[in-house]
Amino acid sequence: METKYIFVTGGVVSSLGKGIISASLACLLKARGFRVTIQKFDPYINIDPGTLNPYEHGECYVTVDGHEADLDLGHYERFTNVETTRANNVTSGRVFQNVIDKERRGDYLGKTVQIVPHITDEIKRNVKRLGATGDYDFIITEIGGTVGDIESLPFLEAVRQLRWELGSESLCVHLTYVPYLKAAKELKTKPTQHSVKQLQQVGIQPDLLVLRTEHDIPAGMRMKIAQFCNVAPDAVFQSIDCPSIYEVPVMMSEQHLDEVVLRKMNVDYRDNDLEMGPWMRFLDKMHSARETVKIGLVGKYVQLQDAYKSISEALLHAATYCDRRLDLRYINSEELTADNVDSQLGGLNGVVIAPGFGQRGIEGKFIALKWCREHDMPTFGICLGMQCMVIEYARNVLGLEGANSTEMDPATRHNVIDLMEEQKSVHNMGGTMRLGAYKCRLRPDSIAARAYGATEVSERHRHRFEFNHNYRTLFEQGGMACVGENPATHLVEVVEIPDRRWMVGTQYHPEYNSTVLRPNPLFMSFMKAAIDTPVAGK
Ligand code: GLN
Repeated sequence: METKYIFVTGGVVSSLGKGIISASLACLLKARGFRVTIQKFDPYINIDPGTLNPYEHGECYVTVDGHEADLDLGHYERFTNVETTRANNVTSGRVFQNVIDKERRGDYLGKTVQIVPHITDEIKRNVKRLGATGDYDFIITEIGGTVGDIESLPFLEAVRQLRWELGSESLCVHLTYVPYLKAAKELKTKPTQHSVKQLQQVGIQPDLLVLRTEHDIPAGMRMKIAQFCNVAPDAVFQSIDCPSIYEVPVMMSEQHLDEVVLRKMNVDYRDNDLEMGPWMRFLDKMHSARETVKIGLVGKYVQLQDAYKSISEALLHAATYCDRRLDLRYINSEELTADNVDSQLGGLNGVVIAPGFGQRGIEGKFIALKWCREHDMPTFGICLGMQCMVIEYARNVLGLEGANSTEMDPATRHNVIDLMEEQKSVHNMGGTMRLGAYKCRLRPDSIAARAYGATEVSERHRHRFEFNHNYRTLFEQGGMACVGENPATHLVEVVEIPDRRWMVGTQYHPEYNSTVLRPNPLFMSFMKAAIDTPVAGK
């Protein structure tokens, strides 16, 4: 079938969950056997979110092909099991840069280069890029930001043009907010009406409305919204707050979102096409779990939970498949001290030492790691967490005083974590890291190999610094095993402490590929260890 395009826009306020709605629709279409991908356009000037502080837009997600991407791509993968690439996330910055590069090359043959048509054409080209592969029946394009923002205008103009060109091969879903006024005890539709008017002003008539709400919206009110916003009565859906984002596809399917989309796009489907069995089994497990597993996540970005989104989701997937309710405690590494570590970590079932950049909060990670090692707590160090595991071991077990990463102390005597030679001369903040999926060969007797059931795996990276090879023998002889390495470069990818129950550090980020239907094996193994281990401390 011809590739079809679905555009998802949002109005009234941000943070309504456009990404979750897009991912849920994709999940349902996929469960009907269609080939689907989702892409996101972000209307900011950064070339990619790689240089952004996690407090801006949450964690930076990494695709297999090494693109630093918006965290919504993580939701897309977790909901659909379909890997995304750099083509799935485009920012205004990237669009402008491409156009300016073309202008400098003389590609525009002396013409005045303008937002319309040059920027909009570049956006359209990017929208259609995934369609051109022929790999997908549906391309869902989420437009970041809120209708009415200056920033989103070129994207909306591109959508208007594409809708005009594609006709019934395209569709627009608009997500808005229906607030509840407690004092008046009333739900209010006016913001939605205004938001749709704003969309209409730029020439886009939405086909479907999804209303985010905290209270059930009665049928009469939905009818009123349909009438005032010029959409079909069966095309108004509500997205009511629910306990887990993973309920959203089911909630949408109960309202027949996917069927209405397919009907409107003249796509044949059968009632019994929808195969949500495995998804429902996951939800059943989530609902029926009685016992709790308490995991501590030690990091410095604890105020905003989106900063560690993929890790918290990967832990949730693993806990759910282990029939446990996840009780995740965010522990601020900047506030951890030798005096309070007992009360902070005691009573937990397992500890994750988070990834990160820079010096801040690093000492707290060493304190946590020492405590975990001494109490034989199941401990999972991820990226910077793994590097800290190595440093703590060097300082406190191998006696390498002042051991450090040159990221934290360029003059350290024992640079157990360091840059590789070729990286030392690079001074550009963007794209200078080891990014994306790399192979890792595992020692057959390692915890990691047993977890994966394989001795060769591929996982995603995002870091500059590496385990320093010159220290490898010293570590091996001193009880820390380098059990995983890159088969081509021999860079150390996984370390373990064999005389501890479960102390594993990975230079890569296994959290990025954990999905609802395919939890990451290393997270599963960590979770099982956490559940099986008697609680330490307290
Ligand atoms: N700051 C470390 C590095 O660049 C670790 C990065 C991370 O944890 N993602 O190597």
